[in-house]
Amino acid sequence: MNITTEQMRFWSPEVRKLKPYTPGEQPKIQNILKLNTNENPYPPSPKVVEAVQKVLANSADVLRLYPDPDASELKQAIAKQQNVPVDTVFVGNGSDEVLAHIFKAFFVQEQPVLYPDITYSFYPVYSQFFGIRTKILPLNDDFEIVVDDYKQANGGIIITNPNAPTSIELGLAAIEEILQANPDSVVMLDEAYVDFGAESAVKLVEKYENLVVCQTTSKSRSLAGLRVGFAIAQPHLIAALEAVKNSFNSYPMDRFAIAAAVASFEDQAYFEAQNQKVIASREKLVFQLNELGFKILPSSANFIFASLPSKDAGELASELRERGIIVRYFNKPRINQFLRITIGTDEQNQRLVDTLKNEILV
Ligand SMILES: *Cc1c(COP(=O)(O)O)cnc(C)c1O
Repeated sequence: MNITTEQMRFWSPEVRKLKPYTPGEQPKIQNILKLNTNENPYPPSPKVVEAVQKVLANSADVLRLYPDPDASELKQAIAKQQNVPVDTVFVGNGSDEVLAHIFKAFFVQEQPVLYPDITYSFYPVYSQFFGIRTKILPLNDDFEIVVDDYKQANGGIIITNPNAPTSIELGLAAIEEILQANPDSVVMLDEAYVDFGAESAVKLVEKYENLVVCQTTSKSRSLAGLRVGFAIAQPHLIAALEAVKNSFNSYPMDRFAIAAAVASFEDQAYFEAQNQKVIASREKLVFQLNELGFKILPSSANFIFASLPSKDAGELASELRERGIIVRYFNKPRINQFLRITIGTDEQNQRLVDTLKNEILV
């Protein structure tokens, strides 16, 4: 919808200037192969479905009542699965909401917040939304974080690990170096993809009073439709997040989300088996795409970042789209010759490979 300047006079001046995030497309077309938003190709644990059905069965009794504002049951399930004390856990309506609270709670400072030029595109949006100063630090030519860049004055540090959309993991030794160099600012690690083979920094939380680790159930737990994210940090940081949350929405976690996410965290075996399948499919897909001439950055995520030297990435994305396969293309400096491709099932990945081989690259 096109809003006229005249209609805009009703908007708050700040809102007129917003540049909102554009989510990956959720097409309404049938038989489309969606490899564009890093969802998990497998269903959630059957225990999740049972838990939702149980809430449904009691819905006449419980839906009229507010849910637990603290989502204590969920915090306990996360604490148990992550092997951390329950008072180090914060939960929110998707990790996007948790991230928003982290920005508000820690990063509205005199000094700018530091993050890489190529990373999750919600960070500039939140920075603008909360009036946060930023200093953008380029990744090196191999798309890696330059640790020494993160040793300058700052009002906070944001690192996605593994990074998105590059899929590259930063080792915990480098992360500790950054944490130690910045004793007076909060370092936030967005670990949305950590369960696909990277090492989590949750184990460092007890050692560093300036560390916040953020994770989500959207990717590795197949619950993108449920909206459950969480953060782990020492209690003095959790307290700030609770203060922000209770100044915005006291009940972000509904009864379905709490019950389903608890069931997911209690079914560790399903979670591990499913992620192993995604990792195995990733390795197979990387091998097949390499054979077709693609260059692929080393991935520790449930997606790959791939370029084909012989073909324009934007064109390749449209040609795949014409054939019912959607991948993510970012028309941005440095990465406009890459495609971000979500790992599907082996069958789905094979459809991608066959389409490229038999229809596009002939
Ligand atoms: C998907 C993603 C999120 C958002 O996850 P939700 O919990 O679905 O809101 C956050 N950070 C990164 C880097 C992501 O890729």
